[in-house]
Order: sequence, then C-alpha cells, then structure tokens
Amino acid sequence: MAEKSFKYVIIGGGVSAGYAAREFIKQGVKPGELAIISKEAVAPYERPALSKAYLFPEGTARLPGFHVCVGSGGERLLPEWYKEKGIELILSTEIVKADLAAKTLVSAAGEIFKYHILIIATGSAVIRLTDFGVQGADAKNIFYLREIDDADKLVQVIKEKKNGKVVIVGGGYIGLELSAALRINNLDVTMVYPEPWCMPRLFTAGIAAFYEGYYANKGVKIIKGTVAVGFNADSNGEVKEVKLKDGRVLEADIVVVGVGGRPLVTLFKGQVEEEKGGIKTDAFFKTSVSDVYAVGDVATFPMKLYNDIRRVEHVDHARKSAEQAVKAIKSNEEGKTIDVYDYLPFFYSRSFDLSWQFYGDNVGDAVLFGDNDPASPNPKFGSYWIKDGKVVGAFLEGGSPDENKAIAKVARVQPPAMNLDLLTKEGLSFACKI
Ligand code: FAD
Repeated sequence: MAEKSFKYVIIGGGVSAGYAAREFIKQGVKPGELAIISKEAVAPYERPALSKAYLFPEGTARLPGFHVCVGSGGERLLPEWYKEKGIELILSTEIVKADLAAKTLVSAAGEIFKYHILIIATGSAVIRLTDFGVQGADAKNIFYLREIDDADKLVQVIKEKKNGKVVIVGGGYIGLELSAALRINNLDVTMVYPEPWCMPRLFTAGIAAFYEGYYANKGVKIIKGTVAVGFNADSNGEVKEVKLKDGRVLEADIVVVGVGGRPLVTLFKGQVEEEKGGIKTDAFFKTSVSDVYAVGDVATFPMKLYNDIRRVEHVDHARKSAEQAVKAIKSNEEGKTIDVYDYLPFFYSRSFDLSWQFYGDNVGDAVLFGDNDPASPNPKFGSYWIKDGKVVGAFLEGGSPDENKAIAKVARVQPPAMNLDLLTKEGLSFACKI
C-alpha cells in the first residue's frame, strides 16, 4: 500500500483543522509539508451552521458558504485555497489505527501516513440510543446530527414528511436549535427531556422558563421529566411512535436525538495520557507524547483563569486552541516561547429570533435581570453568576455586539459584587460600566 510522509499531519477535518491550517500559513509552511486527513468528504467548515441555517427553508446555508474561517469573520478557505497553499486535503479518509510511537497512521483503505508532528483534532461523536440498547432505536427516520452527511439526511426527510410529526429527544442546545429549525419548516414538534428544565448544565430555572415559554408560543410542545424508552416502527421499518417512560406514547414521523457527545479518543487509548475523558495537554496543547498535540473537543487543558483542568466542546475554543497549538509548534522550532493559553469560556446559541451569549463560569449564586417575559416584543435579559463575592459568569439574551462585549469583560475581570439585590436592579448597566 502507498505510504505518504508529511512534516505536519492534522487528523480530523473540522473546525480546529481549518483554523490550524490558516495559522500554519500565517506562521509559514512550505508546500507539501502539511496534510489534513478527514473522514468527511468536504473541506473544514463551521459546524454550528448544521443545526441552524443549514436546515432553514429560507436563507438556507450551503457549502461553500460556511467553510472556515467565516464563522469568526475571517477569510473563507475554499478547497482551492488549500491547493494554492500546498496543503494536502485528504478527504473521505478515516484513520482506523494510530501508532504514536512509530509516528504512523493507517486509513480504513490501508494507506499509511507518516508524520513528524501530529495534531489530533478528531472532535466528538454523538451518543446514540442504540449504544444503550433502547428498544427499536435502529428504526428508520431516527436521526442524529454531527456531520454534514447527517444534516443532509435531515434536509431530505424534512422534504419527505411535510407537515409531519417530529419528536426531539434531548433538551440541550442541539435539541433546542433543532426544535426551532424543524418548527420553522412547519413540522409539528414535541421535545422530550428528563430534566426539570432545558439546558440544565448552563441555564438556571429562570433562564429556562423564558425559552420554554417562547418555544411554547411558537407551537413547540415540551414534555419534561421523562425519557424515550422505546420506538415502534411500521412495516417499512420507519419510526411511527415514541414510547416514554411515564407510559405516554407519542406519534412520530421523524425523531431527532440530541443527548450529547463523547470525544473521539479511542484511536489513541493507552498511548497518551487522558483526563476528564479527553487527551491531557499543557497550555500549548502538547500531549504526554512528544510531537503530538491535541486541540478542540478532545483536549483537556489547563484553564488558567480558574486554575483548573477542563475540556470544552465549543467552537470558539476549537478555533483558539488550534491557533495556539500551531503557534507553539512554530515558535518551538525557532527556539522561541509564546504565552500560555488563557481562555475565557464562551458559548452561544441562536434559534427562532433569539440569540444568546455566555461567558465565564456558571458557578455560585445566580441573579436574573431584565425583561424575560416570553411574550415581550423585544425580550432582553441576562444572568450573572457570583462566587466568593465576585461576578464569574454572565449570560445575555438579545444583546447588541457592544453589550455582549461588556458581559465578556465582566466574566474576564470578575468585579466584586456583594449586594445581589443591587446587581439584579443594575442589570446590564453593571456590565456596561466595567
Ligand atoms: P469537529 O469540528 O467535530 O471536527 C472533527 C473532525 O474529525 C470531523 O471532520 C471528523 O469527521 C474527523 N474525524 C474524526 N475521527 C476521524 C478519524 N478517525 N479519521 C479521520 N477523520 C476523523 N459550539 C458553539 O460554541 N456554538 C454553537 O452554536 C454550536 N453549534 C453546534 C451545532 C452542531 C450541530 C454541532 C455538532 C456542534 C456545535 N457546536 C457549537 C460545537 C462545535 O461545533 C464543536 O465544539 C467544534 O466543531 C469542535 O471542533 P473540533 O475540530 O474539535 O471537532
């Protein structure tokens, strides 16, 4: 079998890979030195589009429109860009074996790739109900969403099941964004999740009450406190019913499951140190194996701001960690050093006419401020999280770019706030004066 050798190989062709490629070019690589090996058939793109405009009936996003690095306002890297720069994009190629000691990767088709420096950017895979043996979970028209192929299947079934019934399993951001996108397509949408409110890992009860109310006003039905325990299919094998643990049965032409992901690290098991489910790195995304870096969803890295070690599954971190790793690789070659990664957690979501941003850490006491009436014509509200007398996290729905900058600054600066009643009263103006 053919063997190819590169100075730098990125395994994975998602968000991190694209931003790493741009940084390599900024820092200077020679044609033929860098290869990106990806299971997907397309050049790196901004993955968050898949649960948003990719599914809209109007204003639809399609490639090449959302190739990286447009998501952060940068130049769009089309497949031709990689060619021009002498970066080899090796697509539709799944790596099935990685030998970090021998610096060798092997693809499903048996091709061998050698590298001097490896960047692991394999991202996450969705958790499937079939993983837990949920009865009937292999029926047709039960979907998951991670890659563009998954999104294409959803686009197809939206066309086939016009005005049909959809059950969304899971109340996280994927469940919320997909419910909105499918409702906009005029489907009859019901969400099911076990928790007392949606997005419980981030939202407080007060924040969630707004979104649940807003979704209800848009015609999305929400069933909380129970889970899907089985599915019934028709004679074609297509899903028809979702059975809930509380005994209820919901009709369904389409089911979409968004119950979380897990980082794709199995290829490297036993070869590299792991922590918190990811590959352990230092503040330059260097792993325990020399010449091997890990970025994006798979990296468990030191979070300087909180003196903690964390793994982050957000697009902003995927971009920034990739850039940091490439800067570290190139400066190391020149015998120079760079600053440690100093990340401020940032996460956002958009659905219907809504748009929120969150910065920092959602720990300690939370206070809610602003107009969070779901029926309000222009709802704008937020939340601060206060720990040890300091504001450590901030959330804002409906903020302007400047207001979002202000809450980011609050989360970074961590100003003191002893009087929570006053903070509630001051609301957004507290952030704007920092
Ligand atoms: P990915 O972008 O997932 O890229 C991983 C790549 O590796 C893929 O191309 C995959 O095919 C490839 N790969 C994996 N294994 C192999 C292998 N063995 N061989 C070859 N290739 C392999 N974050 C936000 O902050 N805001 C959002 O609104 C938001 N929306 C999202 C919506 C969706 C539908 C999804 C799925 C994620 C969303 N995220 C969002 C999360 C964000 O997209 C991820 O955190 C980010 O993509 C991680 O980047 P990554 O490079 O680590 O992994």
